[in-house]
Amino acid sequence: MIYFDNSATTPLCPEAKDAMTAAMEQFANPSSVHRAGFEAHQRLEEARKTVAKTLSCSPEEICFTSCGTEADNLALLGAVRALRRRGNTVITTDSEHPAVAETAKALEQEGLTLIRLKTRGGVLDLQEVKNAAAKGDVIAASLMHTNNETGAVYAVAEANRCIREANPNALIHCDCVQSYLKTPLSFSLLNADLISVSAHKIHGPKGVGALAVKKGVRIVPRLLGGGQEKALRSGTENTVGIAGFAAAAKAGWEGMQENAKRAREIKEAVCRGLRDHKKIFFNLPLGESSPYILSMQAQGYKSEVLLRMYSDAGICVSAGSACSAKTGKSPVLKAFGLSDREADCTLRLSFGAQNTLEEAEEFCRVTRTLVR
Ligand code: PLP
Repeated sequence: MIYFDNSATTPLCPEAKDAMTAAMEQFANPSSVHRAGFEAHQRLEEARKTVAKTLSCSPEEICFTSCGTEADNLALLGAVRALRRRGNTVITTDSEHPAVAETAKALEQEGLTLIRLKTRGGVLDLQEVKNAAAKGDVIAASLMHTNNETGAVYAVAEANRCIREANPNALIHCDCVQSYLKTPLSFSLLNADLISVSAHKIHGPKGVGALAVKKGVRIVPRLLGGGQEKALRSGTENTVGIAGFAAAAKAGWEGMQENAKRAREIKEAVCRGLRDHKKIFFNLPLGESSPYILSMQAQGYKSEVLLRMYSDAGICVSAGSACSAKTGKSPVLKAFGLSDREADCTLRLSFGAQNTLEEAEEFCRVTRTLVR
């Protein structure tokens, strides 16, 4: 099988498997006040240190969550609840993952003014950002770093700087689920206060993520209870998942450059291999793009049909994000500038640490037999 759907999820790496197996033996509650609990707590704090290192922040700034979606919800809703009296505007983009887009929509329904910055061609217009920021009553912003469907890497650091200059009190969130361990990330590199990541996109387990919360930033929690995670996210921690997350994060951190280099080679090999194909077109962002994601049109072929054909040939790709797979239409591809017809025949290839150049060549060979 060729698995080119790593933006949906990645296979578990051996380091994560080993760490999780070991953590299963250590069943105690990390909040318990006895020796076993203390040991579980120590493991949890070791994992926090490891994840913190990968975001160049301190362990106290890491809040473990149940997934990237929860981290996004906590960031945006938590920021708005904390600053509700200071203003009424939230800035986001028209290409966010549903974890942010739907949260922003809920805030709009509550009466907040939502500005969705355009991302045509996969780029932000900095003048549009400045105009939005100039409204002056912005309390929160959430601009994603790397788009999960097109691979566009947005100029978030610059955009966030503009927003912060005009709105010094605003809290700035960045959804980094698709860029985590693919490029260096930190509060200062992004000009952000809050950063979301997810374990299952980096060869860790599903059901665990983290929100990095910059020291001194106050947001209102969503889950109330026993006060775990510095009362930001109550609930007994998923110790097994977190152990797997940290092990995958360590491996991903150590292999970050090597993995990005290979992903770039694979992406280039696919583009090169199908460059002269009359029916294949690549939806390449006008600005920077992730080496891990390639959006491709097979003209005249509906993506759901082609998906099945690839699947029968032992190749896993997707039509867009796994999260919009059931609803069909992709607002992200529309925002990118594709017509409905172009979006309907778009596939997403996404690469991971386990993929090889031979797989890229095999993909091109199979494509030539399927798309004629
Ligand atoms: N944000 C982005 C950009 C994503 O691609 C995803 C998942 O595909 C998420 C958030 C949600 O992450 P999770 O699946 O861990 O909830």
